[in-house]
Amino acid sequence: MAVTKDHILEALRTVNDPELHRDIVTLNMVKNVAVCDGVADIKIELTTPACPLKDVIQKDVETAVMKLEGMQKVQVEFSANVAAQKSPQERAAENNPLPNVKNIIAVGAGKGGVGKSTVAVNLAVGLAREGATVGLMDGDIYGPSLPTMLGLHNKEPHVVDNMLQPFEVHGVKTMTIGVMVQSEQPLIWRGPMMQGAVKQLIQQTNWGALDYLIIDLPPGTGDVPLSLAQMLPLTGAVVVCTPQRVAQDDARRAVRMFEQLKIDVLGCVENMSYFVGDDGKEYDLFGKGGAAIMAEDMGIPLLGTIPINTALRQNGDTGNPTANFETDDSLGDELMNFVRNLAGQVSVKALGGAAQPTLSIS
Ligand code: ADP
Repeated sequence: MAVTKDHILEALRTVNDPELHRDIVTLNMVKNVAVCDGVADIKIELTTPACPLKDVIQKDVETAVMKLEGMQKVQVEFSANVAAQKSPQERAAENNPLPNVKNIIAVGAGKGGVGKSTVAVNLAVGLAREGATVGLMDGDIYGPSLPTMLGLHNKEPHVVDNMLQPFEVHGVKTMTIGVMVQSEQPLIWRGPMMQGAVKQLIQQTNWGALDYLIIDLPPGTGDVPLSLAQMLPLTGAVVVCTPQRVAQDDARRAVRMFEQLKIDVLGCVENMSYFVGDDGKEYDLFGKGGAAIMAEDMGIPLLGTIPINTALRQNGDTGNPTANFETDDSLGDELMNFVRNLAGQVSVKALGGAAQPTLSIS
């Protein structure tokens, strides 16, 4: 059977861009494929003319295509036009689907369970308490937490003129895929479905004018951040971590992922930083200062430290984040400190400055 263009494209789907870790077909880098009598001509558009990884890509393309039975020769031609030099973020800014949203902030983490959704929810509620108009989108489509954390169970999504109407709770407008599926149903997304779901939450929700849209990302460095980077101009990202060494390594990976996607990292926040016992003493259950060291190493601000706090967990389980800001202990102050530091970094960025350290750890 003669090798066709489709066979070659299929083979090229196994070739990853070494930096973005996605295949070159999905990344739209393959611009032309022609094949005749076992000789293939492939045109690949690079993101930068002097791409240092050009040779690696060429070798990987040749290896992948030569594996096809009947192939005799593969010719690879590279190009890089001006548009290709633009980052996904620059292109997203040109086609911004949410022009009425002033700041879009993604909350990510290197791994699950570090309190990313908790941070996203409290950031949104905190900004709203400061007087801002805030939206909160559950981009964690694999394990949406917002229905529980915001008390949205049993609420039906409302559609007007083909647009989802966000729920308004705790002073925040919010939308989650979690209200459209059964809570225990496993969410298994293939690439295009995942992109469709994220796109729908962004573009088919009637967000209206917002000062901030907070997006709770899935944990890790997967497909959703890449899709978002292609779809929306993000003001920046916040990385959530915990004090342990292993958590720092995951957080570093998350920071690097955002940097690769050309998304500014506005800072990191250390969750489960310490625990205040009944004796009033602070206990560093997971060690001390890990996030501060990581932040300094990576040149990003540490935006805050959030204690391990039973009320925070309980209010998360009962969907009452407002109560976190009204406790007698340090929780509300720590959360507000983080919220204000983040808002400060957004202002710094709006004025064209680089991220500044905001917290000194003694
Ligand atoms: P992630 O989004 O990173 O998977 P979650 O925000 O869902 O993590 O948090 C996981 C669990 O840990 C939730 O039950 C949450 O209430 C709890 N939790 C998160 N941060 C804290 C904290 N600082 N103190 C107490 N419980 C916390």
